[in-house]
Amino acid sequence: MSTAPAEPEWTIRRLLEWTKPFFERKGLDEPRLAAEILLANALGCARLELYTRFDRIPSADQLASFRGFVNRAADHVPIAYLVGFKEFYSLEFEVTPDVLVPRPETEMLVERSLELIAAKSTPAAFLEIGTGSGCIAVATCKNAPGARFVATDVSPESLGVASRNAETHGVSDRINLVECAGLDLPKEAISEGGFDVLVSNPPYIAESEVADLPRNVKDHEPHIALHDGADGLSFYRMFAEGAPRLLMPTGTVLIEIGESQAAAVAAIFNDSGQFSPARIWRDAVGGHERVMAFDRTG
Ligand code: SAM
Ligand code: GLN
Repeated sequence: MSTAPAEPEWTIRRLLEWTKPFFERKGLDEPRLAAEILLANALGCARLELYTRFDRIPSADQLASFRGFVNRAADHVPIAYLVGFKEFYSLEFEVTPDVLVPRPETEMLVERSLELIAAKSTPAAFLEIGTGSGCIAVATCKNAPGARFVATDVSPESLGVASRNAETHGVSDRINLVECAGLDLPKEAISEGGFDVLVSNPPYIAESEVADLPRNVKDHEPHIALHDGADGLSFYRMFAEGAPRLLMPTGTVLIEIGESQAAAVAAIFNDSGQFSPARIWRDAVGGHERVMAFDRTG
């Protein structure tokens, strides 16, 4: 009499081999990476350590925790919200569902900020509008000892996350977090002589485009971080109109833009008559025009 072969054990290798195609079928981006991040988190080890433990069998508790993650990820909850962190500019940032998950293309704003600092002889004073997790301000300060930020957000919850990230990375003494809407900064937050740089990754998706966003974005990320309730260009109009009174005469506006917005944003700044022509950089992710800089002239 033959018996059915025993079900093989759920080793780390087998868990990853099962989860990757499962995530693929569910339409997740980077399914293997997602599986590894979740499994490492369930096991309490670093992701690369999985490779030295391929034949180990997780405990029942670890398996239950991994299964819970896998089910929620299959429901398009962003991996970063499940594990509570996201890497940005080679630093680990706490993220919660109150903040946008930092995007790799936004690292370009940090690179350009560091270049602007290198070109200045004085310590650079930055104003960041819409800091979210604080990733831009924290990564810039961490890499430029002379940088100082006033970093704002309308969301008090996001300022709590940004504050913890600034603390974790040892730069909280150079980042002044301020709750405020748009450019309505309290007088005492405005840098004497004006800011060198206004940097922002504002909500730039048009309200009409929200329905077409991927589920992990539209069903789980804060809508206040994604769209402006209008055509996606309102923050650029606000900056072109209002930045000159906050910037020093040689100051710069440095912004992230959406994929097809470069011409419209250039026209907004040009029409204000207060800025030099745009400098534009493409991202490495899809080769899209992604970051623009305008120097103040007026
Ligand atoms: N800087 C973060 C990043 O790059 O990952 C977050 C950017 S997210 C696209 C935009 C941020 O702007 C959100 O944190 C949101 O809460 C904030 N925000 C939305 N409306 C705002 C307003 N009127 N004034 C200031 N911040 C605002
Ligand atoms: N870049 C983000 C996305 O594609 C949106 C964030 C923003 O509007 N700045 O989902």
